[in-house]
Amino acid sequence: MTIDGQAVPTAATFDVLDPATNEVYAQAPDCSKEQLDAAMESSAKAFRDWRADEGARRDALRQAAAILLGASGELAPVLTSEQGKPLSDANLEIFAAGMWLQYYADLELPREVIQDDDSAFVEVVRKPLGVVGAITPWNFPVTLASWKIAPALLAGNTMVLKPSPFTPLTTLRIGELLRDVFPPGVFNVVSGGDDLGAWMTSHPMPRKISFTGSVATGKKVAAAAAPDLKRTTLELGGNDPAILLDDVDAAEVADRVYRYAFANNGQICSAIKRVYVPERIYDDVVEALASHARSAKVGPGSDPETQLGPINNRPQFDRVSDLVADALKSGARAVAGGKAMDSPGNFFEPTILADVSDGTRIVDEEQFGPALPVIPYRDIDDAVDRANATHFGLSGSVWGGDADRAAQVAERLECGTAWVNTHLALAPHQPFGGAKWSGLGVENGTWGYYGFTELQVLHRAKH
Ligand code: NAD
Repeated sequence: MTIDGQAVPTAATFDVLDPATNEVYAQAPDCSKEQLDAAMESSAKAFRDWRADEGARRDALRQAAAILLGASGELAPVLTSEQGKPLSDANLEIFAAGMWLQYYADLELPREVIQDDDSAFVEVVRKPLGVVGAITPWNFPVTLASWKIAPALLAGNTMVLKPSPFTPLTTLRIGELLRDVFPPGVFNVVSGGDDLGAWMTSHPMPRKISFTGSVATGKKVAAAAAPDLKRTTLELGGNDPAILLDDVDAAEVADRVYRYAFANNGQICSAIKRVYVPERIYDDVVEALASHARSAKVGPGSDPETQLGPINNRPQFDRVSDLVADALKSGARAVAGGKAMDSPGNFFEPTILADVSDGTRIVDEEQFGPALPVIPYRDIDDAVDRANATHFGLSGSVWGGDADRAAQVAERLECGTAWVNTHLALAPHQPFGGAKWSGLGVENGTWGYYGFTELQVLHRAKH
């Protein structure tokens, strides 16, 4: 682990499995309570100097971006081994993290003068909060960490970062690589089980918890942060609908919908997780989606031919298996896939489910895996109502030949991001967050930066 700029060994370790084989691939350090205290104290101590020099912070973020990009040849295979994703996707993930660090290093933050007249000069000033506890999930451990590291450190905060116990290794290695970039204590990386996350959220030191993970855990984080009124940003689960309008080209749209549903093997918070299709083109869309799913090359991420890797971990694999089995039992038709593959790894056939509707678990819940329900609709108002009839509200998309008409429908979706004729179009300058149970606050862009600050009004009277 990296605590106070030093390599810190632990008394205990835990297993990290390769999802392509389910064999133990490495041991990761299991942080003790005392070591977490040490990390928090080093972060609090480092805060005083770190907050004082914005130029040094920007330089350090630039250096961090360059180091990450330069180390992708070393980092990507580690990420593939612990996460399962194809090596090319792992490289992209490291690249995205570098991009996010670079974006914030260069982000211009204009002074916010809200009054300048005879009576007063009034400014809104953004001040760092202090120690930030950052907790990440297993689907994009590196990119999602960079969404927190870059704005939090730019704002002058210091950080203790904890990756998921399923994917701790790449993050721990990044802690090592950046030891000389940030002053001791500014950026600590610790690892352990879910308990460690709970210790962080109830620890007296952090002033903010930045969390990405499931709705269930997000609620626990919110509850644990409440007694101390810690600030929280919660990026939680999604159940993104894609609504196709009746003027789309079925084959063309199916090609893109497939891509945005099965990227990262469906393990993306804002992947397409249910598709609403007009009855008239339903069979064509289902068949086009199924033909993509049938021809997908599933295998270990280390094989250059692989398009979809294994599901990251056994509990998630079991969940996807259960949801698909439940749908089939309730009368859904697996037009492609429908079951686990014969392998010791967590491989599941890319699955397209037809003749399925709301009220089935795989439509109502977040599957977070390679199985997509396709739902017919007759009336667009009804489709929008069904898309919105959920506690989730992360993102969604509407697809149509007439982009203006599609945009009007997209505006009616109750979610943080509504895309038109695309999906998953994420970028460092665009705020990203969930409505309803999908989250609290946003990440990215200036808005994400503000989330790591406390607002102060500086009011100078002129007379
Ligand atoms: P998870 O909630 O199980 O775990 C996320 C992290 O929280 C892990 O590091 C875990 O160790 C930690 N944790 C567990 N219990 C905790 C507790 N009581 N207190 C504090 N921390 C605790 O989620 P996961 O299975 O790793 O990730 C998948 C979920 O994440 C999906 O629901 C997905 O949609 C969501 N996700 C959301 C976004 C987003 O930006 N909105 C992005 C990626 C993933």
